[in-house]
Amino acid sequence: MKAKSLVVANWKMNKSYVPGIMLLNQIISALDPLPEGQEMVICPPYIHLQTAQTLTKDRFDVYIGAQNCHVQKEGAYTGEISAPMLADLDIKYVILGHSERRRDFGENGKMLTAKLKQVLRQNLQPIYCFGEPLQVRKDGQEQAFVEQQLQEVLGQLSPQQMEQVVLAYEPIWAIGTGQTASPEEAEAMHAFIRSYLAKTFSEELAQKITILYGGSCKPSNASALFAQPNINGALVGGASLNADDFLAIVEAGREKL
Ligand code: PEP
Repeated sequence: MKAKSLVVANWKMNKSYVPGIMLLNQIISALDPLPEGQEMVICPPYIHLQTAQTLTKDRFDVYIGAQNCHVQKEGAYTGEISAPMLADLDIKYVILGHSERRRDFGENGKMLTAKLKQVLRQNLQPIYCFGEPLQVRKDGQEQAFVEQQLQEVLGQLSPQQMEQVVLAYEPIWAIGTGQTASPEEAEAMHAFIRSYLAKTFSEELAQKITILYGGSCKPSNASALFAQPNINGALVGGASLNADDFLAIVEAGREKL
């Protein structure tokens, strides 16, 4: 089995209910069925999840994901949403470890390991995000930094758990800045990530894992990124808020297969 190809929209805290559902409808009504092995995933704010899930439940190429969830199953955690609640809605994916949550909510390796395990227990698929800040890249330490972010979380998983995880390499200096990693820079890191997986788990498992690139992915650079052998798709922030731009990125992903 080879890694599936995903293009994932991260709407972040954008689009209130009606504009969000309109955007989703615009995207799914214009999308011709994707080939087997390719999926489009939309991660809207929580308030859209139930409607979004209902609108996409008959499509086998479009899935809905959440942008986060709490580490505990239930309890006195005001304002939080749990993994079982997402599973109950038939949500398929949960983004975990986004750099904005690490920065703004102090999420660290220990917390993220527990969150990944909770999400996996509910048979949801985590999209685990990681990536280095600009200074680390300037210092030439990006591989060591990323290896630590992988090891502290993925190093705690069994091979069976790892198989369910999607990875998203998102260099922080490229997120929302318009400054994309070049296809060569991104590919070098993705190849490094795959070799980490081969070393830690097995070559066979490493080949099955979907590794997304995230950071100012847009229609003008998506094809060049997707042409790289170790890039299996993208996690898209800003460009996912425009139906035409997002669809153009999904189409670029179609060429990969
Ligand atoms: C993101 O936040 O996951 C992201 C990739 O954002 P952008 O595409 O806007 O850089």
